[in-house]
Amino acid sequence: MNKDYEIIIVGAGMVGATLACALGQQGFRIAVVEAMKPNFDWSADSVDLRVSAITCASQKIFESIGAWEKMEAQRVSPYRDMRVWDATGSGSIHFDSADLGVPLLGHIVENRVTLYALHQQLNSLENVTLLTPATITRLDIDNEKSQVTLDDGRTITASLVVAADGSRSKLRELAGIETTGWSYHQHGVVAHITTSKPNQETAWQRFMPDGPLAFLPLADGSSSIVWSTTPEHAEALLALDDADFLDELQSNFGDSLGRMLSCGPRAAFPLRMQHAKAYTLFRLALLGDAAHTVHPLAGQGVNLGLADAASLAEVLVNARQQRKDIGAHKVLRRYERWRKGENLAMIATMDGFKRLFGSKKPAIKWVRNLGLGLTNSTMPVKSLIMRQAMGLEGDLSRLAKGQRLDGEQ
Ligand SMILES: Cc1cc2nc3c(=O)[nH]c(=O)nc-3n(C[C@H](O)[C@H](O)[C@H](O)COP(=O)(O)OP(=O)(O)OC[C@H]3O[C@@H](n4cnc5c(N)ncnc54)[C@H](O)[C@@H]3O)c2cc1C
Repeated sequence: MNKDYEIIIVGAGMVGATLACALGQQGFRIAVVEAMKPNFDWSADSVDLRVSAITCASQKIFESIGAWEKMEAQRVSPYRDMRVWDATGSGSIHFDSADLGVPLLGHIVENRVTLYALHQQLNSLENVTLLTPATITRLDIDNEKSQVTLDDGRTITASLVVAADGSRSKLRELAGIETTGWSYHQHGVVAHITTSKPNQETAWQRFMPDGPLAFLPLADGSSSIVWSTTPEHAEALLALDDADFLDELQSNFGDSLGRMLSCGPRAAFPLRMQHAKAYTLFRLALLGDAAHTVHPLAGQGVNLGLADAASLAEVLVNARQQRKDIGAHKVLRRYERWRKGENLAMIATMDGFKRLFGSKKPAIKWVRNLGLGLTNSTMPVKSLIMRQAMGLEGDLSRLAKGQRLDGEQ
């Protein structure tokens, strides 16, 4: 039976657009349905409020699909050091790229820079059609095809439909896939801050009883903060005028970066752990935040989604090489087995961290400080933790290893 496309991807955020680039470059006929028409018209001196820590593995994926050089040409900020310490004790840990024998630990990149580069790549692919602004209202799956109905009444069909439409995925809901999860009872307050000392290409994170406060380095020496705290405190922080907000920030973060000088606009995001009970059905797959959301304390959310995209792309390319139906559940289950375990491990680690550092019990505080001190002085353990955080451990996809997606040399 003739289908309009081989693959329909719903959502052209960082994860959906990466998958569309990777598969589009392999010649798949793809439709990408995106609710928000992308707007890349911004003034050169403004900085996006939303930034992400991009791991070395994710950088490799972006390099493989030709997006990294476009991101670098815009603006990316390397970080070479990471300092983590406990506000209620003496425990601290310092990751130094020089000690680990690597040039850097990762990059902080504005989300809009990543999206701009990915969409430039997408626009250059004749076999990829971007349908935007458009949302989906209905999903029908039968033996031959997945069919989605768009909000303008159009229907489109493909062998496989992929949900990359974020944590409130409409496609996941239409497919009837349930999620497990809970609220962290925290909101993440984000803002850009200039300080009297430059950021020293260092990611700083101070753990406080109500949640971690991170300063992520930006290219101009300022920092982008993510302050995870109670919803009530977050609301109060947003209501403060700039001077009072900077005072509050100073008293919570301390003077590692000198004085807090100025701040840009602020916003807050509710933080939830969420995990889909299944990543795949016959002719359907979920990835990125549609499949899982994690606490931002280790900056892993989008990196997990990019790893999903690279793994799913590899599974689909292999299936096509073996002349298999790319929508067959047996094919898609390979992707699910590959990624679910890795994502669950990260969810559990983030949850453990959140509980460990959120505890006010003296015994736990003692263990926490002892643990941080011991880890800091044990190089092999430190190195393993950092390799994990850089996305270099586990069962890596070809793209994350910098290899060709089709397995050719
Ligand atoms: C405060 C904060 C800080 C964070 N910091 C980091 C970090 O440092 N590093 C990191 O790795 N991660 C970080 N994250 C997590 C990261 O932002 C997410 O994991 C990432 O944005 C998920 O990407 P995605 O493409 O899966 O989903 P999204 O970014 O949510 O994109 C979904 C896309 O689908 C579109 N869409 C939605 N519904 C529909 C529909 N019905 N039809 C069509 N299109 C639709 C949307 O318009 C959007 O373009 C952070 C999160 C928060 C809240």
